[in-house]
Amino acid sequence: MTDFAWTRDQFLLPDGVIYLDGNSLGPMPKAAPDRVARVLQPEWRDMLIGGWVKAGWHMMPETLGDRIAALIGAEPGHVVVGDTLSIKVYQALAAALALRPERRVILSDTGNFPSDLYMAEGLARTLGHGTRLVTVAPEDVAEALTDEVAVLMLTEVDYRTGRRHDVAALTARAHEVSALTVWDLAHSFGAVPVDLAAANVDFAAGCTYKYINAGPGAPAFIYVAPRHAEKADTALQGWQGHDAPFAFDPAYRPASKVARMRVGTPPVLQLAALDAALDVWDQVDIHDVRARSIALSERFIAGVEETCPQLRLASPRDPERRGSQVSFHFEHGYAAMQALIARGVVGDFRAPDIMRFGLTPLYIGEAEVDRAVEILAEIMKDRLWDNPDYKVKAIVT
Ligand SMILES: *Cc1c(COP(=O)(O)O)cnc(C)c1O
Repeated sequence: MTDFAWTRDQFLLPDGVIYLDGNSLGPMPKAAPDRVARVLQPEWRDMLIGGWVKAGWHMMPETLGDRIAALIGAEPGHVVVGDTLSIKVYQALAAALALRPERRVILSDTGNFPSDLYMAEGLARTLGHGTRLVTVAPEDVAEALTDEVAVLMLTEVDYRTGRRHDVAALTARAHEVSALTVWDLAHSFGAVPVDLAAANVDFAAGCTYKYINAGPGAPAFIYVAPRHAEKADTALQGWQGHDAPFAFDPAYRPASKVARMRVGTPPVLQLAALDAALDVWDQVDIHDVRARSIALSERFIAGVEETCPQLRLASPRDPERRGSQVSFHFEHGYAAMQALIARGVVGDFRAPDIMRFGLTPLYIGEAEVDRAVEILAEIMKDRLWDNPDYKVKAIVT
């Protein structure tokens, strides 16, 4: 059983803050500052360039990839860390398309995160020859899987509403028409159980700064199924994905398996923070997290619906069909969220009218949920959102 009192004690959160935004940027693990500081000194200070070997920096994308693999049901040696999620989605999609050269359609849904769709469009334009992105409503994906589809590219949990796709069922359906799958796990990893090998997924990518708590700008990861690992094309042929990077061979030759998905020099300071964040996950059973996340979300929804008739649930009502976030529509959602933040309850806003709350059991419990509902109810009852200061949009929402 996961000890949630212990997990809560592993994070540094400011006093008086109820943090319901760990789905966007997780809080700082207590161990992170020292771990990052250790890379600065003694490692960088004393080892200088020798740190790449002596401190293990060069292998961190792969050693941390293996730690992540263990958490997402991936085979060891088939996950590598680096770059941003947009880049990892691009690489996965490019590799998947190259394995279906006779087909031209990338299928996705209209709820997908814009960056994933932008990357797909850009890649399709670069490839030319009629390669194109087709998006359908999330509930129409299974039906849209025809034998024209090369790759089904989806995000399991919708960033806006928390609606969750069935990864195993859609992967099986894609395989029936010989399409390949690319799953984005941005709002899954650390939020819901993920079992890539069991679901027979072809490619996946995910984020470490959201539910995993590895810090702002922490790198993404990519998974390539063992059956594709030696055939996967690497659209971004960086030197660190070369079979012998230090041979400085002018001819590119991909490294074995997923190591070929490395691109350039890894962000070692960020990787150190990720290493510290993963130490917490070593003590956590994701099934316990899931059960508690559902209990907290149900409590939050019930509380909000009882006290705030102005808000309308945007997330699926069935908890099995949601990730670990709850969203509500409210016409003045942006201002209401600013009013909440001013009172110490941090969630976020997604255009056009969504107030989004992440329920993250590692450091949130019933008391925080109840207090957040109380404060939100006050804001609604007294129209505290109706304040010009709360209506000025910041550059990051
Ligand atoms: C958060 C998120 C991203 C972010 O990509 P970055 O390149 O890391 O900024 C991409 N896709 C989805 C689905 C996300 O939720």
